[in-house]
Amino acid sequence: MEERFMTGDFQPEDSAVELSLRPHTLRDYVGQEAVKSSLDIYIQAALSRHDALDHMLLYGPPGLGKTTLATIVAAEMGQNIRVTSGPAIERPGDLASILANLNQGDVLFIDEIHRLSRSVEEVLYPAMEDFAIDIMIGKGPTARSIRVAVPKFTLVGATTRAGQLSAPLRDRFGILFRLEMYKPEELAAIVTRSASILGVEADREGMLEIARRSRGTPRIANRMLKRVRDYAQVRGSGVITLDIAREAIAMQGVDELGLDKVDRAVLSCMMDKFAGGPVGLDTLAATTGEDAVTIEDVYEPYLMQLGFIMKTPRGRVCTPAAWEHMKRTMPSAPKDGQMKMEI
Ligand code: ADP
Repeated sequence: MEERFMTGDFQPEDSAVELSLRPHTLRDYVGQEAVKSSLDIYIQAALSRHDALDHMLLYGPPGLGKTTLATIVAAEMGQNIRVTSGPAIERPGDLASILANLNQGDVLFIDEIHRLSRSVEEVLYPAMEDFAIDIMIGKGPTARSIRVAVPKFTLVGATTRAGQLSAPLRDRFGILFRLEMYKPEELAAIVTRSASILGVEADREGMLEIARRSRGTPRIANRMLKRVRDYAQVRGSGVITLDIAREAIAMQGVDELGLDKVDRAVLSCMMDKFAGGPVGLDTLAATTGEDAVTIEDVYEPYLMQLGFIMKTPRGRVCTPAAWEHMKRTMPSAPKDGQMKMEI
């Protein structure tokens, strides 16, 4: 599949600098104010009790800072972090050995936690609740399970949507945080910090332009910063200004609101083939050739945030703002129920 630029999903090109750009303290973590202030209290409380922090579930679209927050939690608690992901833990035994090898107070971060298999998930339940795992000894009728203690740890789970998690797993998290898309000023602060780490000169307008076009997502903003920096070096004087940022971003096929060709293809498909909707997710996936999960997790959150798409009981619908942005005329008589919001 073609590598996408405007996606919050991790891309191979991110790995080189992502580590260096990652903030290490809650103070350096920009935005998400409500999350930060609650978390600060929970961390202080746990530290003063000399206890591990409650298990925490972070959810929100990719690239919003879930992994970063998990590493910050570990650092603020003065503990180590062990990072893994749902798809990487194939068998119950894999998880049992990860748990058995943790140290007291460690943070275990499981990305894409909704992708754990049911049998692996079952190992987590007693581990989260009682800090114990049940191990089967022997086979057949003489098989019995023995309970083995594991060190007291904090599980931090990350998922793109909390609804994808099974109820028993979700219920075992004491802390649930939903990460929100960032405001342009917050993203501007993030890229300004990144630019200084990367040693790139930039003015405020240039940073704000990158921020405005990064769909509220720090990972995209940092990625865009690198592309604009390259452009500034080759076509400009090396300094990121408003004009340089605009030219460089336009070259990536990204418009003034941060929509790329796939977003526009989704919107034009809805407008041209379905008169703006309602259209079901699977139909949309089949007609645009994109994966349904990707549409739902990657494209839709931003299109909905912009107010371009609404979910109705009968499917997705384009709003007048979307028609205007796509410079198309909206059919004059909306179909019955077209503008009804999902309740
Ligand atoms: P996720 O786990 O949600 O996919 P990450 O935590 O890997 O996202 O974040 C992607 C990149 O974005 C990180 O390397 C970091 O540099 C940057 N980032 C994310 N959130 C913030 C933030 N609040 N402040 C500063 N940088 C951030």
